[in-house]
Amino acid sequence: MNRRSLLGILATMRFLRSATAAGPVPPGATSPQVEELRAGWRAHLAKNADIATDPAPLNLSKDEWRKRLTPEAYHVLREEGTERAGSSHHNAEKRRGVFVCAGCAWPVFTHAMKFESGTGWPSFITTIPGAFETSLDNKIFYSRIEYHCAKCGGHHGHVFDDGPKPTFQRWCNNGLALKFIPA
Ligand SMILES: [Zn+2]
Repeated sequence: MNRRSLLGILATMRFLRSATAAGPVPPGATSPQVEELRAGWRAHLAKNADIATDPAPLNLSKDEWRKRLTPEAYHVLREEGTERAGSSHHNAEKRRGVFVCAGCAWPVFTHAMKFESGTGWPSFITTIPGAFETSLDNKIFYSRIEYHCAKCGGHHGHVFDDGPKPTFQRWCNNGLALKFIPA
């Protein structure tokens, strides 16, 4: 097989995958502990009026988003930007609480899901159920799973399968897409 036909086959495979991949979040490895972790976020809800509870989609115009977000957060959330590694104050966040979407306050992670990945981006082993939807991102030479807020559609990051036990997932999130609400 020559190089050109190989590239053609690879391009076709990518197209087919990107045409079918958008949809539910990959479950990752699961266990009773993971299910407990995912369900346990509700304990934070009663104490926090700042967490959105209505799953109805939030659709705003570009201008409305620009008014609501800083330019840096707009770039990440609405233009699928990536912040500089190590730039987020959330990297050092160790308190108990909930991370919500910076665009719409939809709850996405708890402190108990966070781990130190060493990448310079806030990283998590799993998500609050229903937090995100995914799509396939072919912007660089290999495909990555992009994920975005299930309520406002804002881009948050990419999920990889090289995380720690028990899920083996690494949800690599832009800190600018998150707001932390301490318990
Ligand atoms: Zn959102």
